[in-house]
Amino acid sequence: MFTLDEINTEVDNYIKNTQKTIPYIQKVIYGTTYPSGLVRFSDLEKQEYKLYLNSDNDKHPIKYRKSILWHEFTHIYDFINCKDISERKYFMASVSEINASEIQHRYLTDIGMSDYITIRTPIYFEGQTIQYMRNLFFHFEMIKSGIAKYEETKLPKHFEVTLNYAMYACGAVKLLKGGNLYFLQSIKDIAEPYKTILTKIINDLYSNNGKHIPLLYCNLATRQKIGNMKAFIDKYATATKK
Ligand SMILES: [Zn+2]
Repeated sequence: MFTLDEINTEVDNYIKNTQKTIPYIQKVIYGTTYPSGLVRFSDLEKQEYKLYLNSDNDKHPIKYRKSILWHEFTHIYDFINCKDISERKYFMASVSEINASEIQHRYLTDIGMSDYITIRTPIYFEGQTIQYMRNLFFHFEMIKSGIAKYEETKLPKHFEVTLNYAMYACGAVKLLKGGNLYFLQSIKDIAEPYKTILTKIINDLYSNNGKHIPLLYCNLATRQKIGNMKAFIDKYATATKK
């Protein structure tokens, strides 16, 4: 498990490589119930920079564990730099997940912040080193199985997790030249309305730098006008009522 000192050494590396300045982490909390890494908005709002890490991360190689830190550091950077407070919740759930995924993948594949990889570039994924193409395949499989699961249960949490997978995939394809085309090819068989909205999201990411993505993300949440979605909508939707 990383000590606070080791984490803050990684903060220095992160700033040096990404040119994204973030504050030092003040506290690290380990637990078995957290996702691999987590920052809480309630902490960040108070300018408390705490990092929650899953203690099982130790089963992964050190480089992968550090990539989790880079992912979370990106969320901290985005939270601080998101100027539109009313949009923040959507921004963090959408654009910031894309950014965090992209930077995590850049760190894992050892390319700089603007270079491209190929589909054969090796990358560590869930206990093994695989070609990048395979890594992307797994990402899109998770979107598809997430949609199937949500269609079966209609539980907001399954919908939310699926959207999360989609944002990770958006970030992961950004390392490839023509990543948007790869994305569109990969979702060509998924059901509506997911296909149309994900198409809009990836197109906006490539043509407008993701300017409209928080709103598209919100629309995707609110158009599911079914009872069970209420909790999800309440959680995310108030931000756009300007
Ligand atoms: Zn994240």
